[in-house]
Amino acid sequence: MSKIQCVRGTRDLLPEDKKSFRFVDETAFQIARRYGYGEIETPIFEFSEVFHRMGETSDVVSKETYNFEDRGGDKLTLRPEGTAGVARAFVSEGLAQNLPLRLYYSGPMFRYERPQKGRYRQFQQLGVECLGLETPLADVECLALAHDLLQALGLGGEVQLEINTLGDPASRQAYRDQLVAYFTPHKASLSQDSRTRLEKNPLRILDSKDEGDRRLIAGAPSFEECLNEESKKFFARVLQGLKDLGISYTLNQRLVRGLDYYNHTVFEFTTDRLGAQGTVLAGGRYDGLIEMMGGPRTPGVGWAAGIDRLADLLDKTKLPKDSPLIALIPADEAGEKESLKVAHELRQKGERVEIFSSGNVGKKMKKANNAGAQWALILGTTEVETAQFALKNLSTGEQKTIPRPELKNFNFR
Ligand code: ATP
Ligand code: MG
Repeated sequence: MSKIQCVRGTRDLLPEDKKSFRFVDETAFQIARRYGYGEIETPIFEFSEVFHRMGETSDVVSKETYNFEDRGGDKLTLRPEGTAGVARAFVSEGLAQNLPLRLYYSGPMFRYERPQKGRYRQFQQLGVECLGLETPLADVECLALAHDLLQALGLGGEVQLEINTLGDPASRQAYRDQLVAYFTPHKASLSQDSRTRLEKNPLRILDSKDEGDRRLIAGAPSFEECLNEESKKFFARVLQGLKDLGISYTLNQRLVRGLDYYNHTVFEFTTDRLGAQGTVLAGGRYDGLIEMMGGPRTPGVGWAAGIDRLADLLDKTKLPKDSPLIALIPADEAGEKESLKVAHELRQKGERVEIFSSGNVGKKMKKANNAGAQWALILGTTEVETAQFALKNLSTGEQKTIPRPELKNFNFR
């Protein structure tokens, strides 16, 4: 039998990896809470229709989903992103009663993509959705939350915010028509993908990474000419809010998002430290989504961030330190019995304690050192009988005797 492995594009996250992932997630939730967000968890799979309602023309839905039929014959899809599930929950749980609603989520997502560094088939996202607010202030707050998070992760200096507007539906339609008029005479020189997009979703051509497409895109009309007054005003207020908060940004007229439900503000935070996989956080306004999901017309704005990419960027030396590890080294059977009790008492106090029980005392000490223990407590018959323990500080090498009753008051930190 060949050696068993995890599926291409998936990976095991070991304790060292999880430290970074958890730090990103916990930091994000802590900051989201300051903005009034509560946490939601939706299922990892949904009826395929949930994602089809988001728009058949997006690459994520049309090419990247894991679809399967379960034993009962239901057509299901592993979620490729979080917004659709949240929108579905909003409709099926009847959450429209209590607006605005601010929701935070985090968890695994699944996309059938070509695996490479920073791009996996199972990866993790965290995200926020603010539902029920039409005002550009909501966009600004959403962006400020993203900005705060990246600062808190120590990435403020190396990510850039790129922002654009897709305008309201009328402006978007006008731009769409202009793009079709511009690209149609060049149809033969477009890539296969972009030719399909020209019919289904011409805006997405702007997102193409194909060299030939990029040359044509450079000459394409810009969105600005098609924005109506309403849309211009909305965008101006978003940008003014960012200025007021001192959040710097770059306007990128070619920025469109992969999913079809966006309008008005769209944005991405990117870095050049991750090569081609440089987008760490992306989102925008999606006023039509809830309606597409079969709910009442409800404006929304939100974003999602790739935890794998954020974790990769973190300076691991700045991760919060664990509390010191106390190693209990039983020297014999009486010491072993006692160490169970001592460990229990210290853990009750909140200390981190590990009992090292295999090999001779020398071997145990070595293992404790390798585990990064800060303290070693040696317990044998003599120590138990005299109620005097030998406590060693492993970083200074200093050793002292500590009476058993004083142990629970000792400051290990
Ligand atoms: P990309 O242009 O890199 O394909 P995207 O536009 O498909 O990104 P979104 O759908 O906006 O990405 O998802 C938000 C974030 O989730 C991305 O900015 C990225 O950090 C992360 N992400 C998306 N796809 C993957 C993946 N396959 N592996 C790891 N992270 C991912
Ligand atoms: Mg993608």
